[in-house]
Amino acid sequence: MEKTVFKKYGKKNLVGKPRYLKARIPKGDNYRDVKKSLRERNLYTVCEEAMCPNLGECWDSKTATMMVLGDTCTRACKFCNVKTGNPKGVVDKDEPRKASEMVSMMGLKYLVITSVDRDDLPDLGAGQFASIVERVNADHPEVKVEVLIPDFNAIPDHMDTLAKSNPFVVAQNLETVRRLTHPVRDRRAGYDQTLKALAYYKKAHPHIHTKSSIMVGLGETKEELVEAMMDLKKAGVNILTFGQYLRPTLAHLEVQKYYEIEEFDHLKKIAYDVGFDFVASGPMVRSSYKAVDYLNFLNEKEGKEIDWKK
Ligand code: SF4
Repeated sequence: MEKTVFKKYGKKNLVGKPRYLKARIPKGDNYRDVKKSLRERNLYTVCEEAMCPNLGECWDSKTATMMVLGDTCTRACKFCNVKTGNPKGVVDKDEPRKASEMVSMMGLKYLVITSVDRDDLPDLGAGQFASIVERVNADHPEVKVEVLIPDFNAIPDHMDTLAKSNPFVVAQNLETVRRLTHPVRDRRAGYDQTLKALAYYKKAHPHIHTKSSIMVGLGETKEELVEAMMDLKKAGVNILTFGQYLRPTLAHLEVQKYYEIEEFDHLKKIAYDVGFDFVASGPMVRSSYKAVDYLNFLNEKEGKEIDWKK
């Protein structure tokens, strides 16, 4: 990997996390009550499973993320701690109802649905995503649904299947710059494949807002990050997020650099200069971090509620 500039934290500290990255454990009666009710109904959020430090902020803003299509991914990205294997075509047909129930139970106004990759399914999971979005849209017309999807191999039929269910935002993560895509991502994922999927949604379904995320700290240069931003902008992406890569276990890729808060701010400024509509950038920002903020931004800009379902 290319040598990166180690500033304040120095190379010997790369295995340790800067103070600002220490996880904040959510607490409070509201958190405990919601958690208890979710367990009683056998509902699980990614927010809890991943011990996301942003949980408190997201739940307070009535946003939560649900993982669907199981816990076993057919791919094996070198930054990700999700179990890899063959789920053998198993799909929980009750997930649409569970998603709808989660919205009711948590009083959500914004639901993010994400999944593992399911290369074992003929439609790569697009139909299940569509069923969930349809159900939540039907039961909760006031709620917006964002989907953080696998790339569906950028196959138009699969992408159309999902688009017809009318998600508010479709997100597909570029994850890293072109040069580092392999080894960072699974060999079946690709820099151009992600761009192709995002560009297709914007061209074929322009009413859908599109989003992507980049992790920093894997050895990328600023020039490469700017190139990635330009490529995403060319694909018509509306929303971009930057977050710090954190090594989940010693078996995963090493962190090459911990970015300073000011560097995240700088990336955000560049991204706005490139022309994205909305940018979130910070050490703990993840793709779904306070995803409702984009909706709030649109409402503020328009001075009214956007009727995106028309
Ligand atoms: S495809 Fe997604 S869930 Fe699967 S290993 Fe890669 S990052 Fe993790």
